[in-house]
Amino acid sequence: MKEVVSRRLTEVLSPRLGSKRRAVLGRLVDRVAEPIEVSVVVPIFDEEDNVAALIGELTRALEGTGRTYEIVCVDDGSKDDSYARLAKAQASDARIKVIQFRRNFGQTAAFAAGFDFAAGEWVITIDADLQNDPADIAKMLQKAEEGYDIVSGWRVKRKDALLLRKFPSKVANYLIGKVTGVGIHDYGCSLKVYHRDVAKNVKLYGELHRFVPAVAASLGVRVAELPVNHRARTAGESKYGGLAKTLSRTAKVFLDLLTVRFLLSFATRPIHIFGGLGLAASTFGLGLGAYLAIMKVLYGATLADRPLLLLAVLLVIVGVQFITMGLLGELVVRTYHESQGKSIYAVRAVLDDSGSRNAEPRDADHGDSGPTDVEEARDAERRDGP
Ligand code: UDP
Ligand code: MG
Repeated sequence: MKEVVSRRLTEVLSPRLGSKRRAVLGRLVDRVAEPIEVSVVVPIFDEEDNVAALIGELTRALEGTGRTYEIVCVDDGSKDDSYARLAKAQASDARIKVIQFRRNFGQTAAFAAGFDFAAGEWVITIDADLQNDPADIAKMLQKAEEGYDIVSGWRVKRKDALLLRKFPSKVANYLIGKVTGVGIHDYGCSLKVYHRDVAKNVKLYGELHRFVPAVAASLGVRVAELPVNHRARTAGESKYGGLAKTLSRTAKVFLDLLTVRFLLSFATRPIHIFGGLGLAASTFGLGLGAYLAIMKVLYGATLADRPLLLLAVLLVIVGVQFITMGLLGELVVRTYHESQGKSIYAVRAVLDDSGSRNAEPRDADHGDSGPTDVEEARDAERRDGP
């Protein structure tokens, strides 16, 4: 198939094109004939001593799956030799893509960039330090193909410090599970498989990458969890070690959890939460005020020394402010959804007389990674069977 398409297209178009365009055409033809099945996204920040082993292990594991793949390395502003080593690897293997950030933007931003540039049907995230084991990729893909949109790794025997890493993470996992109602054991594990529909549609901020399965599950995305191998870091240093960093990361995760909870339940109707609080506060305040007024008018009580009066006034003011906040929230939500063309629902598939096809709304095309008709057709095939 590949050879035929490629020969025909090149015969017809090549003579009319310059060499640069011919190269672009060649790449396009390759993609049409042999689309990328798996994109592996790796965030890399000062990991010079891990790059070679990482690329080696990933290549072995991915070739073992027998699928077409690419490795998307996102250099998150490394100050060491990481970028040069990645560039060297890229020069000798076209399946490697390297994206270099101008400065350090953090692991979540690196994942986001990887998602934007990934072209595969499945997008897999993994850490660069080889704490995750690329050999797990095959079974995770298999699991995903049983019909899941996300397969999340679970580091059953985690090889990290107990007090500073495993304990806070246990607490965080428990809280996230409680708050989001999604029963996953290990939100922090970087090794995850996403279907491209999910990867292309999530917006990641802050430490939010760990919440993707929870948010996605609330939108009806099918999430599975699979125990994976975890190894101690052998080269370089953890970017989150030490007490100060642990505390600040824990605080960030906690605040993000608040955001997620809010987004999950009230993102489309802020007036329902703020307005509710406001109504309750001002009703209570007005009730107290009425009681005080009656005492004053009928019984001539003096009010100047009554703390209750202060409380009544405070409740009314707070109530009015909550309602106002709710109304402002409604404005913000409308701007948020309408300016980005965001939908308040998520569609899995549409059936009509053109046959079944996937109908997830997608983000704007990004570089050469956006969905094409070919990928669209492939998505449909995945769902319908070939
Ligand atoms: N990382 C990154 N940007 C950062 C911090 C970390 O891209 O600002 C990468 C890092 O290179 C590694 C992964 O994120 O590939 C996880 O980092 P690390 O191993 O330090 O975290 P830990 O495993 O200790 O939680
Ligand atoms: Mg690590």
